Amino acid sequence: MSDQSQYLKSSRLITAHYGEEYEHYYNAVVPPVFMNSLNVFESLDDYYEFDRRDKHKYCYGRVQNPTVRILEDKIGALEHGIGALAFASGMAAATTAVLSVCRAGCHVVCVHNAYGPLKAFLDGYCREHMDISTTYVEGDRLEEFENAVTDNTSLIILESPSSVIFSLQDIRGVKKIAEECNAKIYIDNTFCTPIYQQPLDLGADIVMHTTSKYIGGHSDVIGGMLAVKDPELMEKFLAYRELFGGIVGPMEAWLMIRGLRTMEVRIAKHQETAMEVARFLEGHPKVRKVNYPGLPSHPQYELMKRQQSGNTGLLSFEIDGTAKQAAELAESLKIFKIGVSWGGFESLVFLPHARQTPENCRVLRGDQNIIRIHCGLEGTDALISDLESAFARLFP
Ligand SMILES: *Cc1c(COP(=O)(O)O)cnc(C)c1O
Repeated sequence: MSDQSQYLKSSRLITAHYGEEYEHYYNAVVPPVFMNSLNVFESLDDYYEFDRRDKHKYCYGRVQNPTVRILEDKIGALEHGIGALAFASGMAAATTAVLSVCRAGCHVVCVHNAYGPLKAFLDGYCREHMDISTTYVEGDRLEEFENAVTDNTSLIILESPSSVIFSLQDIRGVKKIAEECNAKIYIDNTFCTPIYQQPLDLGADIVMHTTSKYIGGHSDVIGGMLAVKDPELMEKFLAYRELFGGIVGPMEAWLMIRGLRTMEVRIAKHQETAMEVARFLEGHPKVRKVNYPGLPSHPQYELMKRQQSGNTGLLSFEIDGTAKQAAELAESLKIFKIGVSWGGFESLVFLPHARQTPENCRVLRGDQNIIRIHCGLEGTDALISDLESAFARLFP
């Protein structure tokens, strides 16, 4: 393989060129989709003696695939890890991480604002089938982690910033606490992408992404990723991915490689628009609160600046009105479509707590009327005027 170390100098070079070996595919500037389920061998010895870590040796698509491998090399490099593995969804990546690190009967500490289905997995499957107990913390203060960990804690699950109220956790601080009890730190880095935050450098052990968001970037693919810095963990994830069967398909991997090439320029635009939209909302008389880590009014703005080099296009706000009025506002928007996902080219709106109990809303620190929007790439002026008109219809 040609020397690729020059590409490691910048994230743009990584997304454009790293991990690609033009000489192996007729100098095509875009690598092919290796749409094969298996690779054949010259001899039985060749098969039995090949090293699975060798980039040029493959046996079966559930184990590894050359197109998937390119994606993994890029994400591993962007996250400053020793490598990364791609999965068929963010949840396939997340559950593989939990099941690889946790033993039956162990203890997990998780932030309340972690992704809902991951909490459902901990509270359902892990508790019922593996006797794993989970302690939830808000996670804004390090004392909460100190008080929550036990000698039996194997895993600390973070999501910073979280994706409804955008609360942060001090990753370096949690690292010190995790070291004392020998726990691994898992962090969902989907909001920042590997461009705006590299948690492995701050002390995290496992970085998870759903590539269904900004890495795919076009709302046309579902996928997940785990990046690590510890070779032992990498071996485990590779072995268990093969057994659980969660590898991503080659076509999806190819779409993610394509998404990655423009990710840095896309998220810069998402950020620019989100900042302007956040400022517009902050100045609106009918808005009570705006949650966006890029705003100096965010309670953890200083921590954000220490850990992140940017923010992306997702934010939330609470109107000075009822949950019913919030729903009316969301439904009255024209460009922002109602939908749960984010990270694509399109603007979206959702009321993530509309069906939560008031008690859960207190725990999650967001009222039933909290409105989450994803600022897409349709243009800042168009989005602000869409919001302005919807406010004007609701509060004439
Ligand atoms: C969407 C999402 C996930 C789950 O990813 P899938 O690819 O849908 O499985 C995990 N974490 C966050 C923060 C998400 O937004």
